[in-house]
Amino acid sequence: MRLDKLLEAKGYGSRKKVKQLIKRKQVLIDGQVILADGYAVDPEFQQVIVAGERLTDETHVYYLLNKPAGVVSAVSDDKNQTVIDLIAATDQRPGLFPVGRLDRDTEGLLLITNNGQLAHTLLVPGKEVIKCYEAVVNEEVTAEDVLAFEKGIVFHGGIQCKPAKLTILSAAPHQSSVRLEISEGKFHQVKKMFLSVGKKVIYLKRISMGSLVLDPTLELGTYRPLTKEEFLLLT
Ligand code: URA
Repeated sequence: MRLDKLLEAKGYGSRKKVKQLIKRKQVLIDGQVILADGYAVDPEFQQVIVAGERLTDETHVYYLLNKPAGVVSAVSDDKNQTVIDLIAATDQRPGLFPVGRLDRDTEGLLLITNNGQLAHTLLVPGKEVIKCYEAVVNEEVTAEDVLAFEKGIVFHGGIQCKPAKLTILSAAPHQSSVRLEISEGKFHQVKKMFLSVGKKVIYLKRISMGSLVLDPTLELGTYRPLTKEEFLLLT
């Protein structure tokens, strides 16, 4: 497709405005300044940057969901409502899926997309994406627990976790609130980490994943598209 047509279609203004952007060396394709309005570009396979901003591919959608408890992080399920069921009919796309998973009873941030390549990049084993959770635990969380998490928890069964940052928000004999930052995504990781120090997680919510932060204005069960800034930070 012609470069000027593409930029016009993406909302960068009239054909005249777009030509000015190109003339002012504001458009880069795969890192090269392009000065020809009629340059043939394929936005699916080429990286287009306009005035420092990467053009997103509209065939892909990215939703930031505030997952409620009781809904499963799956594409389909015989018994339960899934996170994909929470997406309105007008926002549905073929191939939508959640990036990673939260337990059925966990709330909070979940990225939903139809871009398998991006999900692959984000979830590649060994890639350290910091996830931050808020949890309520059924006992008093202590300074010793903080040290044990910092050293690296060992699950019952011997699996070693990487060091994690545990912050006590409030602590009382039968209930504590904490914040926990982990860089792994083992199955039931947060719950198992607390079980290893003899405590039970009674409420869990993810508040961030890498650069993505749960939008506090999003009600449970609702979602919104990622902003351009959020998308650019992800990739
Ligand atoms: N750790 C858990 O135990 N559960 C989640 O849903 C996420 C992290």
